[in-house]
Order: sequence, then C-alpha cells, then structure tokens
Amino acid sequence: MQIASVVIEYSDDRLDKTFDYLYLGDENIIGKRVSVIFNHREVIGYVLDTSFSDLSKEELEEEYGFKLNFINKVIDNEALINEELLDVASYMSYKYVSPLIACLQVMLPKTLKPKTVKGSKIKYLLGYRYLNDGENLTVKQRELLGFIKEKKEVLAKDVNAGIANALVAKGCIKKVDIEQFRRVSISDNKEYSKDLVLNDDQQKAFDSVINTDKRCSLLEGVTGSGKSEVYFTLAKHFYNKGESVILLVPEIILTSQIAARFKGYFKDELALLHSSLSEGEKYDEYRRIKNGDVKVVIGTRSAIFAPLSKLGLIIIDEEHSESYKQESTPCYDTLDIALYRANYNNAKVLLGSATPSLESKIRAMKGEYNQIYLRTRVNNKKLPEVKIVDMNKEEDELFSNELKLLIQDRLNKKEQVIILINRRGYSPYVRCKKCGYIFKCSNCDVSENYHKIDNKLKCHYCGSERVLDKCPECGSGFFDKTGVGSQRIEELVKELYKEARVLRMDLDTTKGKDSHLKYVEMIRNNEVDIVVGTQMVAKGLDFPNVTLVAVLNIDSSLNASDYRAKERAYQLLVQVLGRAGRSEKEGLALIQTHNKDNDVLKEVCEYNYDLFCNKELAYRKRMEYPPFRNIAYILLSGKDYSELYKFAKESKLYLENLNEVNFTTLGPSSPYISKINGVHRLKLMVKFRDIKRSIKIFKEFKEKNLKNNRVKITIIVNPSNDI
Ligand code: ADP
Ligand code: ZN
Ligand code: ZN
Repeated sequence: MQIASVVIEYSDDRLDKTFDYLYLGDENIIGKRVSVIFNHREVIGYVLDTSFSDLSKEELEEEYGFKLNFINKVIDNEALINEELLDVASYMSYKYVSPLIACLQVMLPKTLKPKTVKGSKIKYLLGYRYLNDGENLTVKQRELLGFIKEKKEVLAKDVNAGIANALVAKGCIKKVDIEQFRRVSISDNKEYSKDLVLNDDQQKAFDSVINTDKRCSLLEGVTGSGKSEVYFTLAKHFYNKGESVILLVPEIILTSQIAARFKGYFKDELALLHSSLSEGEKYDEYRRIKNGDVKVVIGTRSAIFAPLSKLGLIIIDEEHSESYKQESTPCYDTLDIALYRANYNNAKVLLGSATPSLESKIRAMKGEYNQIYLRTRVNNKKLPEVKIVDMNKEEDELFSNELKLLIQDRLNKKEQVIILINRRGYSPYVRCKKCGYIFKCSNCDVSENYHKIDNKLKCHYCGSERVLDKCPECGSGFFDKTGVGSQRIEELVKELYKEARVLRMDLDTTKGKDSHLKYVEMIRNNEVDIVVGTQMVAKGLDFPNVTLVAVLNIDSSLNASDYRAKERAYQLLVQVLGRAGRSEKEGLALIQTHNKDNDVLKEVCEYNYDLFCNKELAYRKRMEYPPFRNIAYILLSGKDYSELYKFAKESKLYLENLNEVNFTTLGPSSPYISKINGVHRLKLMVKFRDIKRSIKIFKEFKEKNLKNNRVKITIIVNPSNDI
C-alpha cells in the first residue's frame, strides 16, 4: 500500500500542509494530480511524496489515530512538474510567505492546475506509425510506406485509407493516436528574417554576456540600440550548444514582433506563452515544451515557469516593467525566479532595458551584476529631440497648437504618429456638475468607469453596473465626464483629421485573439496614420515610419503619491520617445504638461539616465525607501470593520514589541481599494532591512493568527505598486 502526502487545492494558510491518503496501485504517483475526499467534498490534490507500507488500512488508522481515505482517482499519466520546478515552488512559498499549492498553481496552465476547473482535454487524431519495410508490396503500397517511413508518423486523414489498411494488415505500419497541437500563429513576414550582422557595440555586449563569470548581466541600451538583435544572437548561441532559452517580454503585444524575428530561425522549436492564447493553445504549447520539442520560449511573466530542460539563458526584456511582479498570491518577482532557476541550472540571466530599475542599477553598481552599455542607436541614428509644451498657455485642453500643426505636417509627409494616453493615476470617472459628487461603487470604494456606448457606470473590481441617471446627492442630471480615455482622444483625432486613418490600441481594442499581431502588422505596413494608445504602445515596438510621438497627460504620473513616481515617469517617457525616428527619418517627441519646470522632464530631454539615477538614489537613501530598505504590506481583510481595525492595531503593537532593529511598522491605513465585494481592507506597511529575518517574522505572525478565520492576512513583499 502506498501512503501519499497530498496538498489540497485550496490556497489557504491553514491548509498549507500535506494530508495523507492511501493508494493501492504500485506506480509512481509523485507530482500527479489526484481526486480525494477532503471535509466530505471531492477536491483536487497534488501528490508531493509517497511511501510504502505493509500495514493494512485498519492497522494504519490505528497508528494514525484517525480514519484514512483512499485516493479516488489519479488524474495524470505523468508528473506535472519536474524536480526543479517543485524546488522553485518551495522557494516561492518561503520567499513570498504563500501556501505551496498557490505556487504550484501559478506555474501551470489553467487546464493543468491542481484545481477544480473545467477545461480542454488532450486532443488526439487517428494516425499511422512506420514499423518495418515488409515484403510483396504493390507499387502504391510501397509508395505510401516510403512516405510514412520518412515522416515516421502521419495522420490518417492525409493518406488513402484502403492502402493504409492493407499496410496495417501486412504489419508494416500500425494505428496510433497522435496528439494534436493547436498552433499559435506567428507572422511569417519575410522582412523579419533578414540577416543582420551585429555592430561593434552589439558584438561587445554579446561577448560580455558569454564571457562574464557573473550569473547576471544588465544590458542598458538606449531605445533603438538593437537589444533585440543581441538577444536573438545569444539565443542562437545557446541553442546551438544544445541549451534552451527563455525570453520574457513585459507585454503580450511585444511577443508578436520578437516571435516573428525568432520564428525564422527556430521554427517549430519556438513556443509562445502568454495570456491571450486560448486555454487550448496554452495547454498545447506547454505540452510541446514539456515533451522536449521546444528549445526557445517567448512569453510574458508566467513563462518564467516554462518546463524547459537544459536551461542555458533567461532574457528579461524591459526588465524595469511592473508587469514582472505578480500582485496576487503568490506575489512573486520574476527576476527572483529567473535568478533562482539560473542558479539551479548553472545558466545565465540577461536583463535588458533603456532605463533599468533602480534595484537592478544598484546591484550593477555594486558589482553583483555585469553591467553592459549600448549607448548609441544602430547606425548612429539620433535619439528623438524632445519638446516640452506648456499647457498653461494653451486654449485647447487636450491638443496644443504646436501638436496640431505637427500632426498635420506628418500626415502631409505620409509619416506616422503615436499619441500616448497615459493611464497611470486616473480612470475615467464621472462627477456631478452641480454638487461635485463622484460616482463610486458602494461595494468597492473605487470610482466607477463610464462607458459611453450604453451610458452605464461600471465597477471594474466587482463588475456591478448601472445606468448613469441622476446624481444621488442633489438630483442633478448634468455631469462632467473627466479623465479622458483613449476612446475620447480617438474621437477627437478623427474629428480634427478627417482624412487620417486612426487606430486605437488599448486593453479594449486588443482583446481579440491575434489582434496584437494584426495591429502591429497594420502599423508596419503603413495602413495606419495615427496610433492612439495606452502604455502598451510605449514599449519595445519597432515601427520604422513613426517620426512623431506625443504624450498628452504625463502630469498625473509626475504627481502620483508614490515614492517611485519619478522613476516611473522617466521610464515611461524614455520608452515612448524611443518609438520615434527609429529608421532613416529623424524623430521628434512632444510632451504636454502643466509642470514644465519639473526636474524629470528636464532630465528626460537630456537622456542622462545615470545622472537621474544618482539623484533619485540619493533621495531613496535619505528617505529609507527601496532599494535601500525593503517594503512589505500586510494586507488585512475582514467583514466587520471595527473588528478589523482593532486587529490591525493589535498586530502593529505585536510587531513593534518584537523590538527588531531596522524594522518599522506604519499604519494601519486604507489601501486604495478599501472595500471589495463587501469585505473591508486595511494595510500595515513595514520597512525593513534584513529579508530573511523579516520573512521569518511575517511567517510567525501568520502562524500566530492561523486560528483567526475572521481576518485574512496577505503579505506582499516589495510590490511594484502601492496598494
Ligand atoms: P531596441 O530593442 O534596442 O530598442 P531593436 O532591437 O528593436 O532596438 O533594433 C532597432 C532597429 O535596428 C530594428 O529595426 C533592427 O532591425 C535594427 N538593427 C538592429 N541591429 C542591427 C544591425 N546590427 N544592423 C542593422 N540593423 C540593425
Ligand atoms: Zn449632485
Ligand atoms: Zn465594485
């Protein structure tokens, strides 16, 4: 009899341990999903370990002192994850103070998660496999057998059934089920496959990554310096050594362009993993990787868990992006995982960005990372000139005169324009003109978003919606719909430039499958004159004919109440400016602002990131902010507000009374979202120096409160955003 140690699907600190179940079969079930009874309910579990016993069920129950259950069913034919990834999961569970099961779940595509979900099964089609050459075959039989022999396996639908059956009868081939993979579309535009030779700087960067004895290199390269080409050449190098490569990009939209570049070389040994694939496609890409058919994976955050063997290189492009940190349990940082996997596999990590995060900068300064620079654009093209427009002097609230003229000029010259709608720091909310009331969701305490199409207010946290009718405070029917969204700008642009072809790119318009790919191709093929988009158009894309970039509303970022506001604003600006003038024609960037004397804007104009970093680091040091201290949030949620508040106060006192040095607790305070679905939230903020020591404190704090089921505790270590 086998005794299996099983973790249960619920991500709950109280259940973050193994439960023993019995199993009569002999086969190895470690790493497989099982269906078991837990608390009278059928749930999915994941087998962490097994042992054998000669005792009977009754004898074992005697020994345990309670009743034991058998496993109902083993779900998988093979282990879901390998030893390495199990190790990664344990590391995450420790580092992010999260239940192990949550870490296992985040690593796997939905259909393979140890969790009760409906989902697609593996799809098989009938086919034939070659066995031997046989004797006395007809000409046609010999022809078909030759064909199958060459391919090893063929689908039944591709061959003549009569002849194939005859071959089966003669024992030359046999019927098999062939696993069908839904393939992800990647552009096969020939333009992406051109052969390029690295320039001197790129070659130096390449050599430096190969030759350094440091685990991790930081490639700081200005926009258009050809970082992607360095990644590509490195990927080929490791691939040709028989090692596999993961390349992470921050936005789905970037996968399409870089995948197109990689596809020409790696062909079917390339897989994509990102959230706009269908569940079926994700599953299939995952299976192809796990089967060893894939050597190079391109994807967004969770692709860091791709089950590649012989990992040689992990590249993280635009490494400063917030999207690399997950904001729900387990709140992991992709860079941590990358370094962990690289250590495990003796592989290398390459972080790339025009504006690395201050955390990475300081590690490079200290010599922990190998710092590499690409200081000029390919072929010494100039970085775009930056113009600051003082909106205090403008009549039009949104479009300055200068911008209007410049757009017209570009339209005349048949060049392209990108208009960035910076969405950080606000959402399109509705305000009563008469009394100033702001429409908010009563469940969630966040402003509701206004949707013009159906004249409705919608809460994007809990999903509730209602028709915009009268002000509940004063009864007035006149509203200010503030916070201009990309849709409104799109309308205005279309009104101003009737002849222009305008494309809006934001989360709404790019939802459809493959729409990213389509849009990127449309812009590259000059089927679009003006692109109006959110942050997603700012990053990494390479459009040769864009010569003007305009940033309409950077002020909300510059003034955000977040210690990272300046760093973020700088990074965003450099990224979006970098979209202009990437080919022969020179680029120009226009930033509209009400704060023209802001330091960040001045420094952006000079493109001196080191100078900016030094100033910013001095400020962080003075204020004891990261990277000089760590920050963690202890997020507390519960139904009864006064009880929650009392608990928060007591928790703070508990932490203070530990008398730890360099460990300060602030709060309690309200997070941005102080209520979700009727559940109140409060946060404590902890600033600390020693990560290991503090993780231990957080763990003990959670354990001490395990029995309290009225308050839920979530620990978020070094998040990318305030909560
Ligand atoms: P980055 O990622 O640094 O912003 P890209 O990798 O997108 O820059 O490269 C910018 C442009 O320069 C691309 O169009 C690319 O094809 C081109 N390019 C890159 N390296 C070379 C090279 N060695 N020779 C010629 N063109 C290059
Ligand atoms: Zn009102
Ligand atoms: Zn709500």
